[in-house]
Amino acid sequence: MEKKIIRDEHPFRDVIPASIRVGGKLYQIKYQSDPKNGSLLGEHSDYTTEIVIHETVEGEKISRQSQLETFWHEAVHAVLCAMGRLDLNNDETFVTTVGAMLNEIMQSAKTK
Ligand SMILES: [Zn+2]
Repeated sequence: MEKKIIRDEHPFRDVIPASIRVGGKLYQIKYQSDPKNGSLLGEHSDYTTEIVIHETVEGEKISRQSQLETFWHEAVHAVLCAMGRLDLNNDETFVTTVGAMLNEIMQSAKTK
């Protein structure tokens, strides 16, 4: 069956960028398999300005969709660090919710 091309879908909807700038800091997005810190899906460091997305955790492959959600979650951490809002940055429920909504915005974005 021929794949139908939907022309008004946002071209970056499923893209995890190689780098982003947050509050003037350039973050590199990196990937890691089987991290030593247990079951975390990703990490953000304000000091190394890296977002690390885990591709496998405890031997299990992490889906592309889950990696995309992890990217947005970690990007929200970067935003909150840039804002100096460590109170919100430590609220994982808040970070997960905002990240999921940003991902939803990108997933649903139309170009026309
Ligand atoms: Zn987090």
